[in-house]
Amino acid sequence: MASALYSKLRRTSRDIAALRRLAPKQPRAERIRYSNRISAFWQMWRAIVEDSVGIRLDAKRPTKNAFAELLKTSRLNVFLKNLGQDLSSRGKKYTSKITRLPVRIPNEDFVIGDFVDENLKLITSLGNEQVGIISTILELALQSGQRSEDTAKELNHILDVGESHAQLIARDQTLKGAATFNRLAQQAVGVESYTWLTSKDERVRESHADLDGQTFQYSDPPDTGNGRNHPGEDIQCRCVAVPIIPLFEGI
Ligand SMILES: [Zn+2]
Repeated sequence: MASALYSKLRRTSRDIAALRRLAPKQPRAERIRYSNRISAFWQMWRAIVEDSVGIRLDAKRPTKNAFAELLKTSRLNVFLKNLGQDLSSRGKKYTSKITRLPVRIPNEDFVIGDFVDENLKLITSLGNEQVGIISTILELALQSGQRSEDTAKELNHILDVGESHAQLIARDQTLKGAATFNRLAQQAVGVESYTWLTSKDERVRESHADLDGQTFQYSDPPDTGNGRNHPGEDIQCRCVAVPIIPLFEGI
């Protein structure tokens, strides 16, 4: 019954280098798609904010509603749902390739819904923070009679900071989403433990480098110095979980 990959995984389970070749790939295409989408979205937000600088500083001050409205009209929710579906497909495909079993993630639509909600929540809260800071900048500019060029410079800086924060959300959430769907797909076919693999480069944090090659139970994640986490759950973590395939003797 055992597939070639399955036998290989068993035969080389102590061989980390071989395991590394079987590890799930980084969600690079998804990360780039999300990043591009955020750039486009932020350009629209920038345009709304830049409209605020002019002769009448109080004329078109951006509000939380304006940000929420932009979120809606840019259909970021549709994009995120699609991205969640693709991350889920990746997780299922990977597990299916390794185990040669059909994979169905229970309550998949709800998990994707959670992914969308979490992303929208993070971006909304970033937007609200921006609106607060921008409002203060415009208020002070109005009171002090500051030149609009200087106000524009301040707004530009805040927009740059906001955009890099939004890009960080996109990167981190893509990694987290990929890790979640990888885990759920593996658990869906009865995988209970995994080997923790880092990306083995200089950006791997020390606490994760220590976990490289170790085996953990899905029911008992290790302490990563930031609570107990599976691979991909700490912020910007690029580590992955390679499933330990249960023995199918007698099947
Ligand atoms: Zn890591």
